[in-house]
Amino acid sequence: GIKNIAILEKGYLGGGNTARNTTVIRSNYTDQRSIRFYARSLRLYEALSNELDYNMMYSRRGQLTLSHSDGVSRSLRLRADAGNFCGEANEIVDRKQIKDLVPSLNLDIKGMPILGGLWHPNAAIARHDAVVWGYAIRACERGVELHQRTEVVGMDVVGDKVTRVRTNRGNVSAGIVVQCVAGYSSVVAKMVGLKLPIRSYPLQAMVTHPIKPFLDPMV
Ligand SMILES: Cc1cc2nc3c(=O)[nH]c(=O)nc-3n(C[C@H](O)[C@H](O)[C@H](O)COP(=O)(O)OP(=O)(O)OC[C@H]3O[C@@H](n4cnc5c(N)ncnc54)[C@H](O)[C@@H]3O)c2cc1C
Repeated sequence: GIKNIAILEKGYLGGGNTARNTTVIRSNYTDQRSIRFYARSLRLYEALSNELDYNMMYSRRGQLTLSHSDGVSRSLRLRADAGNFCGEANEIVDRKQIKDLVPSLNLDIKGMPILGGLWHPNAAIARHDAVVWGYAIRACERGVELHQRTEVVGMDVVGDKVTRVRTNRGNVSAGIVVQCVAGYSSVVAKMVGLKLPIRSYPLQAMVTHPIKPFLDPMV
């Protein structure tokens, strides 16, 4: 295998999307390819803390997606059928079942009554930055170098091959370069003259001040 590996991170480890997401691990999608991909991911997460010997605080809680309109109810039915077809547990639940699952939920908010929902029992959460720390610790033990505060600013190409990565802290010769920069994919690919058919949009989550946990499943 490849032995001489360096990870170049412009900020700090896990400071990208990974430290900002809502930590939901689920497979209740509509497209069969997505369902199978994420179902595999769910299974991998179940064993990941043991495999990396690092506690990711993986916790299976189930996820409840709510419907406030007939159109959304139809799309939830489609997701349930698609998931069940692929062998992933999904269930359409009525108002009574929702109340049993989450007693604190107000089902009759004015103008937005809850009509029903999709229950995905295998959905889970994990401490998102612990996932990165676990992988990083084990990778570094195997000799991978991790360079934080090291931004890739350009790449030298000879023929159709990248030979050198230029960073704000110096240059690195490389036989193989892999980019895994999420929303910056088009920006970094452009450094070697590639125009990817990808456009990035910000996705935002609202964060409350810390409150005592009162929800067991995700809603
Ligand atoms: C608000 C929000 C909620 C989300 N909720 C969920 C969820 O519930 N469940 C789920 O599965 N997914 C969720 N996601 C998506 C998930 O977070 C991402 O798919 C995942 O974190 C991507 O991981 P990554 O390692 O590919 O990218 P990132 O974690 O973004 O890492 C990319 C890294 O590349 C670095 N980088 C960029 N450009 C350069 C450069 N030029 N040189 C060096 N380094 C560079 C960045 O600093 C960054 O640290 C959510 C995303 C957001 C934003």
